[in-house]
This record gives sequence, structure tokens and C-alpha cells, in this order.
Amino acid sequence: MGKVIVVASGKGGTGKTTTVAALSSCLAVLGHKTLCIDFDAGLRNLDIALGMTDFTVMDYMDVVSGRLDLISACSGSPRIPNLFFLSAPSDCIQDEIDPEALKQMFSDIRDNFDYCLIDAPPGLDSGFKLAHCDADMSILVTTGDFPAMRDVTRTASAVRDLGITNLRLLVNRVQPKNFKLIKTTVDDVIDIVGVRLLGLIMEDKYLFRALHRGIPLIMYKKRRSAYDFLDAARRITGEDVPLHRY
Ligand code: ADP
Ligand code: MG
Repeated sequence: MGKVIVVASGKGGTGKTTTVAALSSCLAVLGHKTLCIDFDAGLRNLDIALGMTDFTVMDYMDVVSGRLDLISACSGSPRIPNLFFLSAPSDCIQDEIDPEALKQMFSDIRDNFDYCLIDAPPGLDSGFKLAHCDADMSILVTTGDFPAMRDVTRTASAVRDLGITNLRLLVNRVQPKNFKLIKTTVDDVIDIVGVRLLGLIMEDKYLFRALHRGIPLIMYKKRRSAYDFLDAARRITGEDVPLHRY
């Protein structure tokens, strides 16, 4: 039975899309059949982070509306075996989606994949709620600055209000010198947000290069951030991976 995991953060730009692409790639590399879904209808960009811009013809609305079966709608990654992608519709019609039809799609996904990661839209409105309608877990992505922390604290409370109890925090773009500058530690971030830590991801200028070359981060074998994501993916699978303190 597969697990449906939503990657969210109230604020835009904290690294949700980067995280979905990287964690999905890592789970696939670890041997798990993994599907990632772009849920950011209208502003979709997960295909770019995956290096799969040619695979946005079919989208999850084709499945939810019954036009296509799940397997026909999903595209396999040309670079990473076990990794599959399902795009968002290009026009924003999320308010019209029947949650029951969406739950049926997730039930189908659980039968066919080990993991499904959802790139939730920013904000806490209907797209965010729909993305969480049948989730087993919510990963909240924040950076270490105060506006992002306040935002993700509110997001955690909104996720709990939706009845989801399995929440984990991913602190992205970690730069130890910045933590020193604002006299904060990762433990302070965890205390403020009140969610168990899944991992820390270093600030990495190579992410920009990877994105523009359309190459998944995990292919850059020597990057610290690629290992940070791999450690986080292992923790998702239940492995006890010690935290790398920066
Ligand atoms: P979101 O989906 O939350 O809006 P993105 O994943 O699109 O955020 O990331 C926003 C920008 O930040 C992108 O340009 C991305 O390359 C960059 N970024 C994300 N994580 C990191 C990181 N760890 N190091 C450096 N740049 C990052
Ligand atoms: Mg995004």
C-alpha cells in the first residue's frame, strides 16, 4: 500500500517544488516506485525541476474526470527508473474538482506506487486543502528566516485542522552564517514551528545550474544538498539516519 505525501508551505519560494523533485528522485533511486504530482495548477513548474518539460500533455484532471486511466496519464522519467510524473492542468479549475473523485485517484495511486509526492500550491486555500484531502503525511518546507517560520507555523496549524497528524519539517537553504547573524539555531526553528524535523538542506548554488540544465539534483553525486535530500528520503522510508548538524 503506497503512501501519499504532500509537500507544502504557506509561503511561495521556500523550495517546495525543488523538494518534491529531489525527494521523489531519491526515493526512486532507493528502489521505490514513486509518482510525483504537480498540484500547482496554472503556475506548474515541477516538470522543469524534474527535467521533464516534454511530459506535460496529460494531467491529473484527465484521471480525475475519467478521460484517462492513471497509468496511461503518468510519464516515466527518461533518466531515473522508478520515477513517474503527473502534470497539473494549465488552467486553474481546482475549485471545480470533486474531492471524492480525487480520493478515488489517490486510492488507485496507493495500489500502483510505493510513494506519491504532491507539490502543493502556496497559500492555505482550496488548492492546499484539496492537495491534503487524502494525505498520509505532510512535509512542511521552510527557510530559517522569521517570515517563513511564522508562515509555516500557521500552515502546520491549518494542516492539523484538516485532520492530518503526521507532519514533518524540512528546513531548506540552510546557511550557518545566517543563523548566527539572527542568533537562531535549528533547534529554535523546530521549537517555534512545533513540528518534528525531517531534515536540513544546505543552500546550494548548483541547484540553479541543475534546474537550468534540466538535470535532477540527485545526478550531481558530489553535492552536499543531494545527500541532504537522500538522508531525508531515507527517513521517510523509516530508516534511522542521524542528523548532519551544520
Ligand atoms: P516553491 O516551489 O516553494 O515556490 P522552489 O522550489 O521553486 O520554491 O524554489 C524557489 C527558488 O529557490 C528556485 O530558484 C530554487 O532553485 C531555489 N532553491 C530552492 N532550494 C534551494 C537550496 N537549497 N539552495 C539554493 N537554491 C534553492
Ligand atoms: Mg513551486
